[in-house]
Amino acid sequence: MTISRDQFIVWIKDFAGVIAENKEYLTELDSAIGDADHGINMNRGFQAVLTKLPAFENQDIGSIAKNIGMVLISTVGGASGPLYGTLFMQIGKETAGKLELTLNDWITALDSAVNGVMMRGKANLGDKTMLDTLIPALNTLKECSANGTSIADAVGTAEKSAEEGMLSTTPLVAKKGRASYLGERSAGTQDPGATSSYYLLKTAAEAFANTA
Ligand code: ADP
Ligand code: MG
Repeated sequence: MTISRDQFIVWIKDFAGVIAENKEYLTELDSAIGDADHGINMNRGFQAVLTKLPAFENQDIGSIAKNIGMVLISTVGGASGPLYGTLFMQIGKETAGKLELTLNDWITALDSAVNGVMMRGKANLGDKTMLDTLIPALNTLKECSANGTSIADAVGTAEKSAEEGMLSTTPLVAKKGRASYLGERSAGTQDPGATSSYYLLKTAAEAFANTA
């Protein structure tokens, strides 16, 4: 059982669609604890990805992911541009030359992506960032793989952990990024980046569910 290149592309397209649908919501969350641009930033980046995708979608998964990372770094700005850019660049590095991914390939790629985001932003679990969604989802994927779960079950279970992680950010006080400037007043709002990262893992679960 593997994740095909077509499924990888469906994931990216679906994520771009969900970001577009939730642009206002993400910006509303960021207006409470940031500068009201997370939805705008992410949508700008992923619309650019959709525009440029035809130029590289016939390449291997690693090249596709690297290209996506470069588009994000050059179009998004803010904190989320370099962070999501790093995430995709790291996925690209780990999947270089591959036309399909096993569950372990996907876990290795996401592990490297999460580590890249942690190194780049110097944040950790509990700092009220996208990592509060990504780290629990990654840990769940690893547990599922150790238990011999199918790709569909693993990505579906990881989506639930991602959702819990996203929801866990609401009471937290932000330690990184613009929201940290608010100190205690950052508590009480769900983190925008944790929310977009939940969409990333939710669309992955949907796109990777039917593996051949
Ligand atoms: P900016 O904060 O520059 O306006 P965005 O609004 O697009 O950028 O993104 C904000 C999101 O970025 C936050 O909600 C948080 O999840 C994430 N973020 C900010 N700083 C960091 C960091 N150092 N490490 C990880 N994620 C971060
Ligand atoms: Mg912002």
